[in-house]
Amino acid sequence: MKSKHAQVHFNENGIPIADHFDDVYFSNDSGINETQHVFIKGNDLHQRWTLWDKPHFTIAETGFGTGLNFLVAMHEFEQFRQANPHHPLKRLFFITTEKYPLPKADIQRALSTFTSLQAETEALIALYPIGLDGCHRLHFTAFDTTLDLWIGDVHQLLGQWHSPEEGLVDAWFLDGFAPSKNPDMWTDALFSQMARLSKNDTTFGTFTAAGIVKRGLANVGFVINKRAGFGRKRDMLTGYFQLTSASENEDNNIETPVRSSPESELQSSPQSLPKATQKKHSQKLRLPEGPYYRYNNAPLTEEHHVVVVGSGLAAATMCLALTKRDIRVTLCFDGDNLAQGASGNPQGGFYPQLHSEASIASRLQAHCFLFARDYYDSVNKNIQLQTSTKTITKTSNKKLTKEENKYDFCGVIQLRFNDKVGVRQEKLVNDDVWPSELIRHVDSEEVRRIAGVDLPYEGLFIPKGGWLSPPQLVSDIIDLAKTTGKLTLKPNHCYVSHSSDGDVEFTHGETIKADHVVLALGAGAVGTDAFDSLPLRPVRGQVEAIASQQPIDALKTVLCHKGYMTPAMEGRHALGSTYVKNDLAVEPREEESEQNIATHEQALANTDMVSQLKHDGTARAATRLGSPDHQPVVGALYNFKTLKQEYADLGVGKPFQKVSTLPLSNVSTLSCLGSRGLTTAPLLAEVLASTLLREPLPLNNDLLNAVNTSRFMVREAVRGEF
Ligand code: SAM
Repeated sequence: MKSKHAQVHFNENGIPIADHFDDVYFSNDSGINETQHVFIKGNDLHQRWTLWDKPHFTIAETGFGTGLNFLVAMHEFEQFRQANPHHPLKRLFFITTEKYPLPKADIQRALSTFTSLQAETEALIALYPIGLDGCHRLHFTAFDTTLDLWIGDVHQLLGQWHSPEEGLVDAWFLDGFAPSKNPDMWTDALFSQMARLSKNDTTFGTFTAAGIVKRGLANVGFVINKRAGFGRKRDMLTGYFQLTSASENEDNNIETPVRSSPESELQSSPQSLPKATQKKHSQKLRLPEGPYYRYNNAPLTEEHHVVVVGSGLAAATMCLALTKRDIRVTLCFDGDNLAQGASGNPQGGFYPQLHSEASIASRLQAHCFLFARDYYDSVNKNIQLQTSTKTITKTSNKKLTKEENKYDFCGVIQLRFNDKVGVRQEKLVNDDVWPSELIRHVDSEEVRRIAGVDLPYEGLFIPKGGWLSPPQLVSDIIDLAKTTGKLTLKPNHCYVSHSSDGDVEFTHGETIKADHVVLALGAGAVGTDAFDSLPLRPVRGQVEAIASQQPIDALKTVLCHKGYMTPAMEGRHALGSTYVKNDLAVEPREEESEQNIATHEQALANTDMVSQLKHDGTARAATRLGSPDHQPVVGALYNFKTLKQEYADLGVGKPFQKVSTLPLSNVSTLSCLGSRGLTTAPLLAEVLASTLLREPLPLNNDLLNAVNTSRFMVREAVRGEF
């Protein structure tokens, strides 16, 4: 999970050279001109962008390196956008892989000579991720560009990229060190993944003209051209993918190009599941391999209108993700105000729940957390900017500023409060799975220094974590979405149902027409017909709001053990939380207050910090919606009957159908975020918005399967339970 950083040295021209491969990252002659020649012109990008009639264009690269190719492409795209502000092509996606990410300082040094790319370089450096395997989605809003930086080996990663049936990639930048220096990368497996992900007419450019590359690409269906190479290189290759080139290839004794499956699909076999280990709604996340997560709607465009139903963080992040993509959204919610459900707690801890193994659950948490942190930084920055220039009408009167104490990325300490926890924590850091920028061990002295209170415990520290005020966050995200001019709010709209032709019906009898509906109802989903295929698990949680007093008034970080405690906001600390299954009541209860205090006393038994506390009984309870495997639910929503038909064959031992027979769907959901919505909502809203627009998806296939709406039905089918 933790990636190996590249080891580099710089030659006399200031060009980085990889020690391991003994090869340069870019040309000694001129890095920018090489990128222009091989990749930008090699893919005829200017001409293709001018003729493009869709809202986004996707470039995929092998070998991100210093990011120079990316910066040049982003620069060119921004120039194109400025010259053509009304052109249908609005956004660039650049998806890339890197097995050995360069340390930030080396990237900075390598790019420092390219003064014409200064703004792009600064933007990249500001967002450059920590070395954690998997996808890091980085938005460069000022350049209309999104970078998906996939850390890991290209061979493992490409099979994990989710692709629409028509293909994902529009142009390939086939980089990577020379085939003679890096033969492991230039393999047939790579070329067949390229074919799987390419559309008809997808182009490629590469600096090499090696025979192995030429033959490999031709074998999977690329038509190859030789062009003059850059600098001292005589030749290079360009070309395009042609799904229909079978007869031509037969003449040349080349295999017919067939779009292959991702590796995970090839291994797909429900019989391979250890049936004995599957319990009903087991917490185990294992599923028979298969692309359960699908692009299942008619792709949304600027012409379309989406109704989002819900008042919490899931609904708010969905609104921003869609309006930012120029989709018109109406947000409908019950009651007068937003954030009345689980997102209404005044303060919430923000951190990922990590295990010592890189399990599906932990990887999802880690990636959601890192994305959410960038997202919240960007929300805070933009809200402050917009407030200072008065370009927004605030939904609430308060501002989300650190100074006014509405959020604080002060870090989170997970205390080692007993030996069992200690063993788990030691394993987590010793197994070397997670980068120390994400989580690291702290001794008791450091705990005292970070926390500001006298705590005789060691622990784990999550420096990027902290706390936020969910209602404030919801209102700020909605305010930002409103600045797009694409969002309408409809309070007092309680959802009843929707029809297949797009009428969304509300309790007061009104119907609103929508091309797509996103249900982000939280616990409001319980008992709703639209969710009849999902085993929903509502859980009541009560959180105390303890008046600030000695000694906790000095607390500077979020503390976690069996419960959690935050530093003060507006003179009160959040201390939570209870966990009562299937209880939809939301009035605070005295016995749960006692339970919360007792949990803290018990866990922090080596200090009298908690026993001294005086509590005036102020508390808030809400129902969080969860699922049996504790993972969120994202994607197209189908009713029980339709899913049963789709998966019935799995129960009689037939393999998973690679091609879905499910009808297109006009309803999706982002649900079951449980008590972890602050961590998971931003990235999962991004996943759903990208799905709805047929964009690249920022999660591996196995993580997409783990959050997919149909996973419970698939598990039931495999167990022969319907
Ligand atoms: N495009 C880069 C730029 O703009 O700086 C230069 C790329 S450099 C020539 C090749 C890159 O490919 C290196 O960063 C290297 O670590 C990466 N690479 C090599 N083998 C790889 C593999 N199997 N999977 C992913 N990345 C790989």
